[in-house]
Amino acid sequence: MEREFDGQVAAVTGGANGIGAAAARRLAAGGATVLILDMDEAGAKVAREITQAGGQSRFMLVDLRQESAVEEAFSVILKETGGIDLLHCNAGIQRYGTVTETSFALWNEVFSANVSSVFLTCRHAIGQMARKRAGAVVITASVQAFASQAGVAAYAASKGALVSLTRALAVDHAAQGIRINAIAPGSVDTPMLRWSADVVAPETNQNEVINNWGQSHLLGRVAYPEEIAEVVAFLLSARASFVTGSIYPVDGGLLSQLPVRLPAQPPEEPR
Ligand code: NAD
Repeated sequence: MEREFDGQVAAVTGGANGIGAAAARRLAAGGATVLILDMDEAGAKVAREITQAGGQSRFMLVDLRQESAVEEAFSVILKETGGIDLLHCNAGIQRYGTVTETSFALWNEVFSANVSSVFLTCRHAIGQMARKRAGAVVITASVQAFASQAGVAAYAASKGALVSLTRALAVDHAAQGIRINAIAPGSVDTPMLRWSADVVAPETNQNEVINNWGQSHLLGRVAYPEEIAEVVAFLLSARASFVTGSIYPVDGGLLSQLPVRLPAQPPEEPR
């Protein structure tokens, strides 16, 4: 693999599992030193695997909802690496409920994990990029920023907020040489998706639920985390040097199709 990230320092939030772990592996394979920021100790295993494969990685145990923890992590990063170049803001949680079913506590839980974590991470990372007058950020939003399913009010609203935040960040920091984009994945086979399958259909086999969800995507299946990581790597790389403020669906065509079906036989032409 081309080592296009040689000499660059990347932070991946939520890198202990799923999409973040795949992005961490992909960036390390491209030559980046990858810092995995997560509140799940499984991040240490991902960092160890990267190191054993010849890459450079370190796990940092951080609850991204806590400003003091985020500030401390980025001051360690600055001291030990000279500052960050690339950032994938990816940590997040999924919760279910309509607005009337969602307690204020649950709403706040979703917004602090999905939105405040990105605000805090960018707040403490972007200053380091600005000093170098270069940097790139990718934020993991979701197709649910653009179209909603039933019973995901807080999650969908949090992902919509990230799309707006991506544009605001891109506008504010372009002059400092920093590009900021977001991705909007469809369904991706990760621990989060498997947890969702168990929550919404506890009586049905997990693979069956996920295969059914896959059928809603034009490509007839859910994504592998590595397919999302590839787009993250592109957007963080110099290959995307003219891309900023954009939102990339990586959704197997999910958002392209309206669920309105024409009759199987076209109606007769009027004479
Ligand atoms: P996952 O649950 O497999 O991984 C998410 C990671 O984020 C976990 O390691 C978790 O510990 C970490 N995390 C959550 N809150 C944190 C906090 N406060 N501090 C530190 N770490 C925290 O999920 P995933 O499916 O890989 O999802 C990654 C991102 O992609 C999320 O933002 C999710 O909303 C988004 N997404 C996922 C899908 C999907 O189908 N899996 C689709 C669209 C968007």
